[in-house]
Amino acid sequence: MMNIEREKIGALGELLATPKKIVIVGHTNPDGDAIGSSLALAEVLRSRGHEVLCALPNNYPYYLRWIPCSGDLVIYRNDEEHRTDAAIEKADIIVCADMNALTRADALGEAVAKNTTAKRVLIDHHLQPSEGFDVAFSYPESSSTAFLMYTIIVALFGKEAITATVATQLYVGIMTDTGNFAFSNLTPELFECVAALSATGIDIPTIYNNVYNSFTEGRAKLFGYAIHRKMKTLLGGRVAYMSLTEEEMRRFWFQQGDNEGFVNYPLTIKKMKMSAMFTAQTGFIRVSLRSRGDVDVDTFARRYFNGGGHKNAAGGKSFVSMEETIAHYIKAVKEYHEEGNV
Ligand code: 5GP
Ligand code: MN
Repeated sequence: MMNIEREKIGALGELLATPKKIVIVGHTNPDGDAIGSSLALAEVLRSRGHEVLCALPNNYPYYLRWIPCSGDLVIYRNDEEHRTDAAIEKADIIVCADMNALTRADALGEAVAKNTTAKRVLIDHHLQPSEGFDVAFSYPESSSTAFLMYTIIVALFGKEAITATVATQLYVGIMTDTGNFAFSNLTPELFECVAALSATGIDIPTIYNNVYNSFTEGRAKLFGYAIHRKMKTLLGGRVAYMSLTEEEMRRFWFQQGDNEGFVNYPLTIKKMKMSAMFTAQTGFIRVSLRSRGDVDVDTFARRYFNGGGHKNAAGGKSFVSMEETIAHYIKAVKEYHEEGNV
């Protein structure tokens, strides 16, 4: 049950009482939830007379490019006209969506940190929100930021604000962050929200197909390769890991987002408790972690990979070679196991 304090809604309502210049910021490697919740808020605020710019640190996967209004997203890394910097400088309000700290937005977060006059609003469901927000909606019990965003939009503007466009954007966030309604925190209130989204006439099977059945042939082959050739197990088959080097990714015509979700697959094995995916990026290795039940990968990611996230889905970064990263992981798993955590 998500109980949003009325004072917070009141405080945000007050900030939005007159037309404002607003920048909405999402996290690096934006996912369906970051994009869906940001675009939905932008749509609602624009229709109420606010000037809104939605910015992301880097580009998002090709299979999310159909989302209504996604063409309005400004990618900070490619923003040669410096539209984002100009908007941040002039902003009355900066909203951070689907991230618990500005550091999750890398250079874009640094640009936001320089503006000391705008009011800062946090709308997020990750653990351990950072300080420094004027209004913070931090609800780790929410299965997605999109569901939290729905609750906030309805509290501020009523259900009429949920148009079919907004509903489509929010549904993408809810569907992707719950693994199409398979993960934790599937509350009656979430399904009431989905009922309201569905009532706007959105096409749920099409949304599903647009996201989950829209990959390239290369992605299907890379997935097969990763599972067949790269999945290794530890602790008698209860912990798994996979890795992809730049060369392997090139071999399968890798496009950004192609490895999304791979890390979940080892958890289809009944006795599997924890899974890791190491993906080479320029200058570092991206670490993705997933777990089942009591195994806490948020703590694991904080302790061993400078990251965090949720109890059963977290991530981080490694700045050593792939071999060293894997050796570090194996050692960390052993330590975690000896402490009774996995
Ligand atoms: P994914 O594995 O899908 O990249 O991320 C899973 C979860 O961990 C997401 O909720 C994401 O926000 C969080 N996460 C991923 N990478 C990082 C990171 O480098 N730092 C922190 N704090 N969280 C991360
Ligand atoms: Mn999310």
